[in-house]
Amino acid sequence: MAGQGVQRCRCTCSGMSGAEFWVIAAAAAGVLWAGDVFINPKAPCRGCQGHRGRHGLSRPKAYGDCRRCGGRGERLRFGARWVRRDLR
Ligand SMILES: [Zn+2]
Repeated sequence: MAGQGVQRCRCTCSGMSGAEFWVIAAAAAGVLWAGDVFINPKAPCRGCQGHRGRHGLSRPKAYGDCRRCGGRGERLRFGARWVRRDLR
């Protein structure tokens, strides 16, 4: 019975090229990114850092609402409108 025991390795660990690895890695990163954006689609506004436009306590009346976010203090992350159609 010497012919038995010949098994082909079906695992995908062998034979994966570098290009395939990066395609899979990019796809995995995209899925993680989409999930992250879906859970937390908003981020602090870059213009006012989430402070709604008041730049500094020394001159509280020098600036009104942040022009970039309109005083909301937050912005939608890139791609948030794609994964969260209900957001504006
Ligand atoms: Zn702002």
